[in-house]
Amino acid sequence: MAMMSIPESSVHPENNDQVEGDDKKAGKRWTLEDFDIGKPLGRGKFGNVYLAREKRSKYVVALKVLFKNQLQQSQVEHQLRREIEIQSHLRHPNILRLYGYFYDQNRVYLILEYAPRGELYKELQRCKCFNEKRAATYIASLARALLYCHEKHVIHRDIKPENLLIGFKGELKIADFGWSVHTFSRRRTMCGTLDYLPPEMVENKEHDTAVDIWSLGVLCYEFLYGIPPFEAKKHSDTYRRIIKIDLKFPPTPVVSDAAKDLIRQILVKDSTQRLPLQKILEHPWIVQNDDPTGVYGQNH
Ligand code: AMP
Repeated sequence: MAMMSIPESSVHPENNDQVEGDDKKAGKRWTLEDFDIGKPLGRGKFGNVYLAREKRSKYVVALKVLFKNQLQQSQVEHQLRREIEIQSHLRHPNILRLYGYFYDQNRVYLILEYAPRGELYKELQRCKCFNEKRAATYIASLARALLYCHEKHVIHRDIKPENLLIGFKGELKIADFGWSVHTFSRRRTMCGTLDYLPPEMVENKEHDTAVDIWSLGVLCYEFLYGIPPFEAKKHSDTYRRIIKIDLKFPPTPVVSDAAKDLIRQILVKDSTQRLPLQKILEHPWIVQNDDPTGVYGQNH
């Protein structure tokens, strides 16, 4: 693929229906010819992600290039189909848009919303932990995005810092719906990284939308303390700590009682007793600290 320099200033965050609109109007299939390819944005397990610009609209996107043979080897084609089916139908400011996809003989291409400020994971590594305003703003925007997903009967099941990107204005974007499912019943599949899994998934029991609520509690803890709550050297110890709900709050950094109260109300073993998303949004710690614009600037 020939690469060219695409200025970041040509991103139009307010106009993000352009690519999809053009696609629908013309009723055509995308091909690689429709895009100028820019710098690599990152490397994933099954391929790379590039900055790209749709030639006609000049709209800047992230183009994820996946190699078919790698997808086949790892037997994740069905997962990719599900990801495309689910993510392309979701429209929320805190969910990364999937505008469309196309393929050629060897590769599958996903046309994704470009998140100019990159991965939350790296931002958390850089800052070690976030202050309460920043943490609450992120948790509130994730709670709103998950409320939207759950209303559409979609469970994400893999909410963790690596799957969160930061948009143009500093807003969080949930990405990677590879483990998500449409649910009309309770599920049993085991998936995701152990640290973020709720007791019912660790124990391979039935689970539902409450698994995403659990991960908000884990994330809230990690945002404030810089490490996930049940971290341990050995997998088996993390497992044990999760099923026992072995939740400890270190003395430093100093975290408010209100934040700890919210975490305690979310990280509850009985999934039916976890604080519902709407109640998370009404919790005093969120109400006091959330910046309702959902935007968190780099200067904080
Ligand atoms: P993934 O294959 O989804 O893990 O993507 C690999 C890396 O590419 C990620 O860790 C990000 O750094 C980057 N990346 C993926 N998607 C985007 C996007 N939509 N906007 C900006 N960077 C992205």
